Amino acid sequence: MNKKITIAIDGFSSTGKSTIAKLIANKYNYIYVDTGAMYRAVTLFAKNNGFVEQDSLDRESLIANLPNISLRFQFNENLGFAEMFLNNENVEKEIRTLEISQLVSKIAAISEVRKKLVAEQQEMGKNGGIVMDGRDIGTVVFPDAELKLFMTASSGKRATRRYNELIDKGDVVSYEDILFNVQERDRIDSTRDDSPLVKAFDAIEIDNSDLGIQEQFDKISELINQKNR
Ligand code: C5P
Repeated sequence: MNKKITIAIDGFSSTGKSTIAKLIANKYNYIYVDTGAMYRAVTLFAKNNGFVEQDSLDRESLIANLPNISLRFQFNENLGFAEMFLNNENVEKEIRTLEISQLVSKIAAISEVRKKLVAEQQEMGKNGGIVMDGRDIGTVVFPDAELKLFMTASSGKRATRRYNELIDKGDVVSYEDILFNVQERDRIDSTRDDSPLVKAFDAIEIDNSDLGIQEQFDKISELINQKNR
């Protein structure tokens, strides 16, 4: 039997990390963890409790309330992936809005938040057989992961993908706002003090500006097969 490895997928916003991670997890029967969903859920909690708005952040109150935040993924058979539950409530839809995308990088820069979520992520992946995507998986969460990927694409391509996703869901958004959000999140995520988004020295970079899903899937499958040989 093949050894179940740990696969870390990091990269910029809207590079299709979760799409490819879900496909890979299905093929190899691995657990998939979308760590962005966890930061988004904490952001939703902060917003609902009045700790964060566009122009304000009450760091101390959020930090004091971290023990009151419980996060859980629950697999949905019909959708074929795990949905995020915040304090036992399914928040999968609420965490994907542009409003949460506009607040999340501020929340993700708080060290106490990262400490809590990284510990939970390490626990989920301690037995291997996991595909985890995020910004610091190959650098901080699983620095010893057997396979590390770093996804990039031009910001225009990324904004177009995110825009189409939101429009398909029926959200009313402008392309300019999405483009600004993608660039702004990358800026904040790459320049924060704690666990900034950087390519791990041993990560394989995949620029998917001009790559379809199938091509990426084949390329990554080949990399996994090489690790298993
Ligand atoms: O992956 P997604 O775009 O949903 O992530 C939302 C945000 O969560 C990112 O822009 C980043 O600020 C934060 N994040 C993070 N570390 C991770 C995953 C996400 O800081 N491992």
